[in-house]
Amino acid sequence: MSKSTRVGDDTRLVATGRRREWTGSAAIGGGVVNVPVWRASTVLFDSVADMRGARPHGNPEQLYYGRHGTPTQWALAEALTEIEPGAEGTALYPSGVAAVAGTLLALLSPGDELLMVDSVYGPTRSLCDGLLKRMGIATRYYDPTIGGGIAAMIGEHSRAVFCESPGSLTFEVQDVPAITAAARAAGVTSIIDNSWATPLLFPGLAHGCDVSILACTKYIVGHSDVMLGSVSARGQAWRRIAAHAAQAGQHVGPDDAYLALRGLRTLGVRLRQHEASALEVARWLDARDEVGTLLHPAFASCPGHAIWARDFDGASGLFGFTLRGASAAERDGWVDALVDKGAGHFGLGYSWGGYESLAIPVDPVRTASERRYDGALVRLHIGLEDPADLIADLARAFDTYTVA
Ligand SMILES: *Cc1c(COP(=O)(O)O)cnc(C)c1O
Repeated sequence: MSKSTRVGDDTRLVATGRRREWTGSAAIGGGVVNVPVWRASTVLFDSVADMRGARPHGNPEQLYYGRHGTPTQWALAEALTEIEPGAEGTALYPSGVAAVAGTLLALLSPGDELLMVDSVYGPTRSLCDGLLKRMGIATRYYDPTIGGGIAAMIGEHSRAVFCESPGSLTFEVQDVPAITAAARAAGVTSIIDNSWATPLLFPGLAHGCDVSILACTKYIVGHSDVMLGSVSARGQAWRRIAAHAAQAGQHVGPDDAYLALRGLRTLGVRLRQHEASALEVARWLDARDEVGTLLHPAFASCPGHAIWARDFDGASGLFGFTLRGASAAERDGWVDALVDKGAGHFGLGYSWGGYESLAIPVDPVRTASERRYDGALVRLHIGLEDPADLIADLARAFDTYTVA
């Protein structure tokens, strides 16, 4: 499909990345539906002249050496570029954290300052406070509700502002258009970790970001069986990220790329079901006395709800809530009752975005913004089970739980 053809999102998800030269050829009588898994380290050339003429980053892409990818990885990268309007290209990484690290290391140098949202994913915070700090890159955290107020924080050494919306664990929706407008005016690069929404529900570049990061491990793969990350970007940021990924030897295995592309085909239909089922479960929770605050962007109790309603095309299946008045220990007991030693429908485990439901107890870390909750927090990922079965499990967990 040509990049200039604008079709509906679901049509694009089906058609993208399936170039005829990658799925088959006239010489073998046709083609298959999916770009096959090309497993390669060595690439063989027909002559020394061909070898010398080969370019690893050409357009159209040419086989060069396994680290530079094969049609399997190129198809996934092309698909991710096509679903992110405004992106010039996509780099693939072996995990979401590797994608975050690759982006920040590509864009920042010693002496630079990074403005980081205080509700960021924990391992991203560890990267900033560990590796980046050791390299002489300073991080200043900002309140997720800062909006255009970010302008006052941008200083002489600020090079990038990093958003994650909604925030990990606490789900504040950020005013990304206001933040990116302030950054652009100051010549600062805007980055978003867009793993919760994906470009289908919130096209990050269209909302002013220069760089959009996805933990593909979550909704792109969608089946809890592959670790993978991606970075789609434009302009100078894209050129730096692409060069850094190549110089740092970033590579994803073709089997993983194949599974991610297979997951991507159903992203639209899965997200609609995750949204509908999560809303049904969240509404049910909202009516329970034991539940204090619902941290779901589609509910008015979630900070930034109005921004979500203005900017997003929907919600995914991940949200949080407080158990009113519960201590951490009481909350842990409730989660154990829900999970029921693995007999329930909710699994107890990190990550999310797969077809199955998950629950975890969460205790957010904040260093730049104060948040008070009316009880300990739980995070749920609502999978593709029948919501009635999930609600029955939640009801059972409440049966054994007394409001503090
Ligand atoms: C899971 C997650 C990541 C990291 O992805 P991995 O593939 O697990 O390394 C990054 N950002 C967010 C918001 C995530 O939820």
